[in-house]
Amino acid sequence: MSVLTPEILVIEDEPSQVEILRFNLANAGYEVRVEMDGEEGVRSAIEQPPDLILLDWMLPNLSGVEACRQLRRVKETRHIPIIMLTARSEESDMIRGLNTGADDYITKPYSIKELLARIKTALRRPIISIADQKLTLGKLEVDIDRHLIKYEGQMIQTSPTEFRLLIVLMQSEDRVLSRNQLLDLVWGISSEMETRTVDVHIGRLRQALKKAGGAGMIRTVRGFGYSIGQ
Ligand code: CA
Repeated sequence: MSVLTPEILVIEDEPSQVEILRFNLANAGYEVRVEMDGEEGVRSAIEQPPDLILLDWMLPNLSGVEACRQLRRVKETRHIPIIMLTARSEESDMIRGLNTGADDYITKPYSIKELLARIKTALRRPIISIADQKLTLGKLEVDIDRHLIKYEGQMIQTSPTEFRLLIVLMQSEDRVLSRNQLLDLVWGISSEMETRTVDVHIGRLRQALKKAGGAGMIRTVRGFGYSIGQ
């Protein structure tokens, strides 16, 4: 990641959208790279990993959903925040988008101001003290520096958002965090996300833990929030 100027890869096939994004992102101080097809976008992201990817849902050659899946599968792009851009607004579509590994989701037509706020949130890194570079909870280990999660030595893959969510939960071990607290700690105070988003990401994190043998570590406190424990 370049420290001063984060680079955003825009994967979008509508020329008018591309121009709007290129102009506004550059204006906001970002480096912008554009690919107008899904396959090229994935290749470009892997060859030269950007700091964030804006990914359109409907793309030629490879859909945004499939591109997202592929980007999450390889080590070069696994940790890069992905925001999906889409004309769909159904909640089930949102969940489907998040389930493929996107960190966030914004529906067209969106306001540039809102998009920039989402980008800023996605680029945020967890605030972690040096003493906390490695976290352990029973058989679960997290190496924050190397972006690695292991359960009983087995690697667990997550998106950057779930990674942050796990860290926040582990730092508050055995305490219950409300959905609003989690939104605040993981997504940032200015976030206008709905608390439903927390549930979706918790669901994904649970799935990932379960696959590695860590089912039941994340507990739901009905009507309130979540906690993690052994
Ligand atoms: Ca499109």
